[in-house]
Amino acid sequence: MMGPTHALSAGVAFLAVATPMSHYVHHLTPATAAVGTVVAAGAGILPDFDHRQATPARAFGPLSAALAWTIGKLAGGHRHGTHSIIGTGVFVALAAAATLNPWALAATLWLCMGLAVRALWKHPPNRPNGKLDYRDVAGLIHAAIAAYIAYQLVHSGLDMGVVPWAVAVGYLVHLIGDSMTEMGVNWLWPHPRRYRIASIDTGKTVEKRVVVPALYVGLAATVYLTYPKWGPVLLHTLQPTTG
Ligand SMILES: [Zn+2]
Repeated sequence: MMGPTHALSAGVAFLAVATPMSHYVHHLTPATAAVGTVVAAGAGILPDFDHRQATPARAFGPLSAALAWTIGKLAGGHRHGTHSIIGTGVFVALAAAATLNPWALAATLWLCMGLAVRALWKHPPNRPNGKLDYRDVAGLIHAAIAAYIAYQLVHSGLDMGVVPWAVAVGYLVHLIGDSMTEMGVNWLWPHPRRYRIASIDTGKTVEKRVVVPALYVGLAATVYLTYPKWGPVLLHTLQPTTG
């Protein structure tokens, strides 16, 4: 599955569960729901950080390439440790622990939001194997901008308790998505058995022309349907204070 499919489906899923989540699990405001949606989209490609050629490894130039190499080694290769219940637990626990420290929280936001942007806005394209080139500079600039936004968000006074929940949703949606492909997912890693609930290896053309546009429609529909819940509140917060 391609990065945009994972990121979009994770964002759509987070928006879809935002209202019940706000009622039963963790209170959300329109602003924190928006943060959660972007973080979930980024967490939606986080499991593929075990693969040096996938989108996450290319998000921040040499920084993310080194991180992907390390995670790949720790997780035993592509679609092993990161694509399992243990992998999910580790990343969600890290995100939960990160909410206790502003720097760790900023780093988590930096990673997830940066990945989300990189998955949906694939310019410049990933460089081919091998030497460093101008695309690594673009990756580093992207990393710096993402770091600035993450820093600002941490100091914005918003309740960032949403972050681990968003990571959990995005991460699980990725594993469910991969479970629908031919290769399947070894949910019970280190046990080697792979589980598959469908085998829709869509191929890049179908994914680009059908799945990704359908997800954009889903995103628009979810925003439209949930608008009465958050629209007026958001408009109210954005209104300039008069007098
Ligand atoms: Zn994957």
